[in-house]
Amino acid sequence: MQSYINIPPNSDFSIHNLPFGIYTTENELVKRIGVAVGEHILDLQFCQNMDFFYDLDFDKKVFYAQNLNSLMALGRATNRIIRNRIQEILLEDFGFEGLIQDYGLVKQSEATMHLPIQIGDYTDFYSSIEHATNVGKMFRDPDNALLPNWRHLPVAYHGRASSIHISGTNFHRPKGQILSEDNKTPIFSATKALDFELEIATIIGSSSKIGESISISESQDYIFGFVLFNDWSARDIQRWEYQPLGPFLGKNFFSSISPWVVTIDALEPFRVESPIQNPPVLDYLKLEGLRNFDIHLSVAIQPENEEETIVCRANFKEMYWNVAQQIAHHTVNGCNLNTGDLLASGTISGSESGTYGSLLELSENGKKPIQLANNQTRTFLEDNDTVIMRGWAEKDEVRVGFGEVKGKVLGIRIELV
Ligand code: MN
Repeated sequence: MQSYINIPPNSDFSIHNLPFGIYTTENELVKRIGVAVGEHILDLQFCQNMDFFYDLDFDKKVFYAQNLNSLMALGRATNRIIRNRIQEILLEDFGFEGLIQDYGLVKQSEATMHLPIQIGDYTDFYSSIEHATNVGKMFRDPDNALLPNWRHLPVAYHGRASSIHISGTNFHRPKGQILSEDNKTPIFSATKALDFELEIATIIGSSSKIGESISISESQDYIFGFVLFNDWSARDIQRWEYQPLGPFLGKNFFSSISPWVVTIDALEPFRVESPIQNPPVLDYLKLEGLRNFDIHLSVAIQPENEEETIVCRANFKEMYWNVAQQIAHHTVNGCNLNTGDLLASGTISGSESGTYGSLLELSENGKKPIQLANNQTRTFLEDNDTVIMRGWAEKDEVRVGFGEVKGKVLGIRIELV
């Protein structure tokens, strides 16, 4: 498949990808829907104004919205038809090449990206067996790292959508209750153990009805796509507060997502077998078909005015609980999912030390500093550190990437009196 647009060969945004996002430019301050292609954005309002979708049966108002929700709510079948048409528009024989080149494209370098969706409810899973084991050992009991339920259900907690922000938004080091040195009494302090969590978030397209359960096989039609997700975490706040009901202020101060939503259809070629689950799971969680995705991931830390160092390389395919099982479990009690809901995977860690998706694991809870370029070291994040996560799938010279999600830790917020 060859586009008339010059797409660099290593681009995340190949003609096979076509992720959706929301952008503005200096001249166009009202948010618009676009599709990333190479180093450009194809503007979908322009495409609609040119009537490129004239023969397709759906409400064209979705292209004038300022987020992707109404587009996503059309459902997977219609989203696939729209995406296929966008692919045709970008191919040589479509016939409007000059017009599109002149009026339909915006350079990504000249655009500002915004939250692509109005996020509904946010659920954070805990689906990597390596991560759950590593954290269980450090926070609780080295001999019983996994609680008895872990291999029987995808553990999760309900998070908070208000503090999820677009890549490039920076935040101040959070404050809260942490334990003092005696390990018994709390003090009020800025966190001394600020961390990242490497995750992928599923974005729900179609809503389900209250009382209905979504099966493993149906689950795929409720998914619009995926983004990279950094679930920034304050480990000292988390450690003191999390029992018995799970994470709260140690997690909800800030989260970051990547701007381009990679559709489930773009990731179809990258489906792989899931890890074997032992003991066997209950019937509603039983796997059939290829449910994991082969997505390479990396995390880099860039101190202020320094070069970045990659501190983690992992792969989404190793997740013990996959997205289909997460959705089946989430709805098995009749809980409904809505358009724009975001289900994060949980920290993605592999089995070796360079594949751990958090500093908690990489530095063994602060005991073993990790090496960065120019003789810098880190246990947890320092002020003005930038964290950059990247993700991409690649097979048979087809590349489908997420771009990146990045954010910088600012120092503690100074209150003016
Ligand atoms: Mn998390």
